[in-house]
Amino acid sequence: MASVADIFETMEYGPAPEAAAPALEWIAAHQPFGLFIGGEWRKPSGGSYADSANPATGKPLARIARASTEDVDAAVKSARRAFEGWSKTPGHVRARYLYAIARQIQKHSRLLAVLESMDNGKTIRETRDIDVPLVARHFYYHAGWAQLMSSELPCMSPVGVVGQIIPWNFPMLMLSWKIAPALAMGNTVVLKPASYTPLTALAFAEICREVGLPPGVVNIVTGDAREAGEALVNHPDVNKIAFTGSTDVGRHIRKATAGTGKRLSLELGGKSPFIVFDDSDLDSVVEGVVDAIWFNQGQVCCAGSRLLVQENIEERLLHKLRARMERLRIGDPLDKAVDIGAIVAPVQLEEIRRLVELGRKEGATLWQPSWACPAEGCFYPPTLLTDVSPASTVAQTEIFGPVLVAMTFRTPAEAIALGNNTRYGLAASLWSENINLALDVASQLKAGTVWINSTNQFDAASGFGGYRESGYGREGGKEGLYEYIRPAWEQLGIRDQEPEISGDGAHQAQAALQNGHSDGHQSKDGGELIPNPQHLTPGLSALPSIDRTPKLFIGGKQVRPDSGYSAFVYGANSSLLGEVGQGNRKDIRNAVEAARAASGWASTTGHNKAQILYYLAENLSVRAQEFARRIIQMTGSAEEEAGREVEASIERLFTYAAWADKYDGAVHRTPSRNVTLAMPEPVGAVALVCPEEYPLLAFVSLVAPAICVGNTVVALPSERHPLSATDFYQVLETSDVLAGVVNIVTGPKETLAKVLAEHDNMDSIWYFGTADGSKTVEYASAGNMKRTWVNYGHSRDWLSKEQGEGREFLREATQVKNIWTPYGE
Ligand code: NDP
Repeated sequence: MASVADIFETMEYGPAPEAAAPALEWIAAHQPFGLFIGGEWRKPSGGSYADSANPATGKPLARIARASTEDVDAAVKSARRAFEGWSKTPGHVRARYLYAIARQIQKHSRLLAVLESMDNGKTIRETRDIDVPLVARHFYYHAGWAQLMSSELPCMSPVGVVGQIIPWNFPMLMLSWKIAPALAMGNTVVLKPASYTPLTALAFAEICREVGLPPGVVNIVTGDAREAGEALVNHPDVNKIAFTGSTDVGRHIRKATAGTGKRLSLELGGKSPFIVFDDSDLDSVVEGVVDAIWFNQGQVCCAGSRLLVQENIEERLLHKLRARMERLRIGDPLDKAVDIGAIVAPVQLEEIRRLVELGRKEGATLWQPSWACPAEGCFYPPTLLTDVSPASTVAQTEIFGPVLVAMTFRTPAEAIALGNNTRYGLAASLWSENINLALDVASQLKAGTVWINSTNQFDAASGFGGYRESGYGREGGKEGLYEYIRPAWEQLGIRDQEPEISGDGAHQAQAALQNGHSDGHQSKDGGELIPNPQHLTPGLSALPSIDRTPKLFIGGKQVRPDSGYSAFVYGANSSLLGEVGQGNRKDIRNAVEAARAASGWASTTGHNKAQILYYLAENLSVRAQEFARRIIQMTGSAEEEAGREVEASIERLFTYAAWADKYDGAVHRTPSRNVTLAMPEPVGAVALVCPEEYPLLAFVSLVAPAICVGNTVVALPSERHPLSATDFYQVLETSDVLAGVVNIVTGPKETLAKVLAEHDNMDSIWYFGTADGSKTVEYASAGNMKRTWVNYGHSRDWLSKEQGEGREFLREATQVKNIWTPYGE
């Protein structure tokens, strides 16, 4: 035994174990665990159970029910029944329940922390001091939003029954991120925990009972991904899926839900950069690295797994870092003096070993501390890989373990390029004492969260979520609430009946014939014949001659379609109005390239964007009659109606000119001394697939919000009535719109929409068309996990301000980046 003098000399830690007995007793009292459905514990219908093990010992911990498809169905039915009442429960009453849950979590905090530690392998220090307090905070915070929903989110309704699937790395925290906002906004949920880590979700179920939450508002179904997970994703009565986990499974869920009308939010993987400039406080940096990559054994979606260090300080930093790694303590997660716990499962441990070995084969140099890991259980030492090339597997693949790869850069521009050199975009951490440099770099990193001089900061008040293949949607903050609400007027699900849609020239001609006659056609309210447009617009020039062929508009230039084909455009009275170019895959490629090349548009000022939108409105206004006449020719609208469409288009341009310098972010009130800047940023290059109706207004209603916040667009106009959009490029040409900001490709809309949805260089696609087309777009988007906004075949009233413009459009046009900026010495 060491003497006091020895201890004083070495300052070694003694063991400080947390008692496991209360948690083990709790487990024993509940064995085997059932499913929590309709406020009751139920046996799985198939009678099947699985063992959950403690990764630190390898020993079984609990028997857990495996839900069958029938059990999931029962849970969804129970959530549906509960939705009727819960969605109508006053916000204040929902707030009381969420508050009660938060209180109950605090009362049972130690039990929850120990359970989490034993089930997952993470240290008690983390579960006790980080996870569980944040869980309680999430429920308190969202109790507030339940209270404020009616005043702060007017005209919004809950989405319905939400299926939630969570991973094993933060079992209870992810549960709170999902359940708290869902309940606050009046939804009911069916949650499937990860197979490795079900225990705290089951303890949470008990808390729901304790606070008297109405039965069915929360249902917890444990079980396998392949049965329970798939059953939840595919259930026809689920209105939304919220998923956190691997990008591959996220992609699979995107495809599985495509076209079903289910809303989807995805929080996926990452390979986040940790950028260190040479003026940083290196001792703080070292502690930052510890928190970035050794927190939770590196099993963190936003782990700072790529250390990018300025070349001139590399040696100094790595020297300090190795010294710190040598002092990290690995071992029993229930020991309060342990820094690094166990990896969640043997298969995960194997995967970490495989990737590190691959890294070595690809040329990396490995460094690990001199001490050995415990022989029993799933442990992996903190690991540093240097001599890593940016394209190597370990620099690109999410290892999800305590493995840091280090690379160097020379200039800020290089740091940004390296930082963004990933298909992910979840988070980034950057270190510099120069606030100008830090904010400049933060604004250029493609990541949903940027921490300045800090890392892995989380709070309910700040949104969290990804750019690019890290997924879409936000959790936390006001921005996270929109995942669980919808405009009250918006219909859910898919539209059963397809609206009529044009296919080829013959179909167009037929449609035109059906819609109108040479001397007029039926009005919408029936019967009344509208005279031929020529008679309505006396004094205006005659119809354009049919040999005039509008071209495509790409990169600010009118270009002929690559195919060399044109399609006839027929008017409402079946007369031939002209021809438009038939765009093809190659034209789309050119348009995407042009949109990408115009990305500088994002950094022009809001004032400039507003000026250009006003200018567009002004130039459209000058040609209002001509545009109205075109609408009449194409659609057979009454003169008054066409005039209204043009006026509404001008007004819409004014609306977004107004928004261009006003769609602000927020400063979130996160605890601790920092400002968390929630900045809406453009999504990037956005594809716009316009509906068939309102050929001018719908086109303007999509283009204007997208560009007013800095996106560039590739627009596919109405296929049947494309000429308003092709006329519009003349307005674009005369209004100082930068080349490539708006690109217009006419042609077979559905085919081109699919090409755009598949294109890896597009960041988002908005589709307004058929239910089938919506499905195609959602499915095809899974390649690079681009964002989608589709209408499932429902039409909207483009003339109405409620449905045709406003914040819903601006939210789709932006993604929120949260920049955490600490202050104080
Ligand atoms: P998964 O993405 O497979 O699992 C996450 C959750 O999804 C679990 O509840 C899982 O259930 C469920 N699930 C899996 N497949 C389906 C499906 N087809 N339909 C419905 N639900 C499904 O992560 P893994 O646990 O397999 O981890 C693999 C890798 O994923 C890690 O190495 C890491 O790189 C990454 N990962 C990223 C996370 C993040 O936060 N970004 C979190 C976890 C993992 P079940 O547990 O029953 O398999």
